Amino acid sequence: MEKIIIAVDGYSSCGKSTLARSLAEKLGYTYIDSGAMYRAVTLYFLRNGILAGEEETALRNISLRFSRPANHTILNGEDVEEEIRQMYVSNQVSQVSAIPAVRRAMVRQQQEMGKEKGIVMDGRDIGTVVFPDAELKIFLTATPEVRTRRRYDELRAKGINTSMEEVRANLLKRDHIDSTREDSPLRQADDAAVIDNTRLTRDQQLQKALELARAAGAQENIAG
Ligand code: C5P
Repeated sequence: MEKIIIAVDGYSSCGKSTLARSLAEKLGYTYIDSGAMYRAVTLYFLRNGILAGEEETALRNISLRFSRPANHTILNGEDVEEEIRQMYVSNQVSQVSAIPAVRRAMVRQQQEMGKEKGIVMDGRDIGTVVFPDAELKIFLTATPEVRTRRRYDELRAKGINTSMEEVRANLLKRDHIDSTREDSPLRQADDAAVIDNTRLTRDQQLQKALELARAAGAQENIAG
């Protein structure tokens, strides 16, 4: 059965991982959260006090993988899924992600993960840099108000103590750093299909994405 690569990019907290995860499930594909990889590297840098100029050496000591089937992020054998979602990591991740050596290392691993196709990866540069030849590229958008509310609700549900103001400031700051950095800034690929999910339910956005995936040659998983 023919398998394709699906790239899902967009600004912070517009529901990329929700869409990418359910799309992968429907198609029987592997889901990769590339943001989790940058978060795990950030956590390692913070814990080990990595300074400018030390990144290349530090990266050699980092091993990343995702547990199956739970899809938790594993950093050097430790499950860091919860820790990487904390605000202190969110507040530093865009600065770490702008470092070229970090991007080179992550992009190399992400391309390796996509070698067999049958993958849905979400992030910021997936359709532009990681898989420029992906059969389907989706660019998700939603208003900052809706994104703030969704992320706030999600963090509170996980028991993370924060305020709407803190969440909003963090989203806007990350969007700014992510789209103005020199190395692979966040931008919509010329051949990406845009889905604005401000007024869509999760199921409506999934149906739209599935239509696009079928048109791009993906076949639904009978079992899923
Ligand atoms: O997707 P998530 O919001 O968890 O990503 C966290 C951060 O990781 C982003 O704000 C961005 O700085 C960085 N990132 C990136 N490139 C990707 C995915 C995430 O620079 N492909």
